[in-house]
Amino acid sequence: LLTARGLQKSFGTNHVLRGVDLDVRRGEVIALIGPSGSGKTTVLRSLNGLETPDAGLLELDGGPHVDFGAEAAGVRSRTWAGRRAAARTVKANRAALRDRSAMVFQHHNLFPHRTVLENVIEGPTQVKRVPRATAIGRAEELLARVGLADKRDAYPHELSGGQQQRVGIVRALALSPDLLLFDEPTSALDPELVGEVLTVMKELADEGWTMVVVTHELQFARQVADEVLFLDGGVVVERGAPARIFSDPAEERTRRFLDRVL
Ligand code: ATP
Repeated sequence: LLTARGLQKSFGTNHVLRGVDLDVRRGEVIALIGPSGSGKTTVLRSLNGLETPDAGLLELDGGPHVDFGAEAAGVRSRTWAGRRAAARTVKANRAALRDRSAMVFQHHNLFPHRTVLENVIEGPTQVKRVPRATAIGRAEELLARVGLADKRDAYPHELSGGQQQRVGIVRALALSPDLLLFDEPTSALDPELVGEVLTVMKELADEGWTMVVVTHELQFARQVADEVLFLDGGVVVERGAPARIFSDPAEERTRRFLDRVL
């Protein structure tokens, strides 16, 4: 579904991604784990155009093939036409990437003055131009699936953190994306609310959604992921099936990380 090759990104002098490769196959769940600051979130944000890598390739099945290095060169082009063409390409590619994926953030980012239903139908009606009645029908269906049918007219502040995050997930699902991206969706929650969100994510995985999940919940990664990538210092140090990574890591750095956190 999505291939990333050699993603590089610096923020000023901070070289955050130093050549990250990733292959996401349809129906697969990939967990990105690693120490704080290793670049996990930056990888995730690069996959949907929220972040623009300095170099590397992204290719979506039937979608854009983006060469960030070439684009960066275009943006630095000495001619006005060259810069303009590069900017147009970057914009179109970002839009195409964003169109195919939906992100669930650490903080749900719901609009506080809109009801749950209004929050969920915002994307489909405004971005995807889905007719309002169709969007409402689909939103109600999805809310029922995560046990929140009765909250459709509530405001975000009337919900618990776990319920808000489930609405955040529904809002992503309502966009009917090919790829669901999760950025530490449970790390801002009180411990007793984590389980309900992970349960929904596990159900989505079982239903065959394609997911890339940045997570500190290693038990979840172990149980649900098809592949685990361990990042450290902006590179993928090790990747593989969770059963192997967690029980028999090949790399010393992975071993040290797991010893520390497990
Ligand atoms: P965590 O588990 O703490 O969320 P992470 O592995 O997801 O960490 P990133 O969020 O990708 O790591 O950040 C990697 C590095 O990039 C950090 O040093 C961070 O300070 C830096 N960074 C991330 N985003 C920006 C930004 N927009 N501007 C400047 N620096 C940034």
